[in-house]
Amino acid sequence: MTKYEKKIYDIVNASYEHMTAEQIYVELQKIYPAVSRATIYNNLNKLCDLGLIRRVSLEDSPDRYDRIKKHDHIVCQKCGRISDISFEDLTQTLEKQFGENFLYYDLKVFYLCPDCRKLQSNNLS
Ligand SMILES: [Zn+2]
Ligand SMILES: [Zn+2]
Repeated sequence: MTKYEKKIYDIVNASYEHMTAEQIYVELQKIYPAVSRATIYNNLNKLCDLGLIRRVSLEDSPDRYDRIKKHDHIVCQKCGRISDISFEDLTQTLEKQFGENFLYYDLKVFYLCPDCRKLQSNNLS
C-alpha cells in the first residue's frame, strides 16, 4: 500500500460517519497538504476494487465510503443521514435460494431519523 492508500484506508475504517470523498480529502489534507482530489478518487477506487473498503451509493447524493465489516444501513429519507444497523444475516437464506449465483447483498432501510422526526412534529404543533 502507498502512504496515501494506507491513510485513506485508516480514515475510512476509523470513521462511522460514512464520509464522502470530499470529507476524506479534507481529512487527508491535514496530514498531506499537497494531496490532490484526483489522488483521493484514484485511491478510493483502488481500495474499493481490492475489497478493502466499500462504497455506499445513494440517489441524489455523493458516494460514501465505509468499512467492509458486514453491517446494514438505515438511511433518513429526509436528510440522507446514514447509520449502521445489524439485521439478521440473510446470507444463508440467499445462498439457499440462489446457490452459487449469489454474490452479496446490500440492504438499505429508509426511515425518518430522530432529528427530522422532531422537526416534523414541531412543524405540526
Ligand atoms: Zn433526517
Ligand atoms: Zn456503515
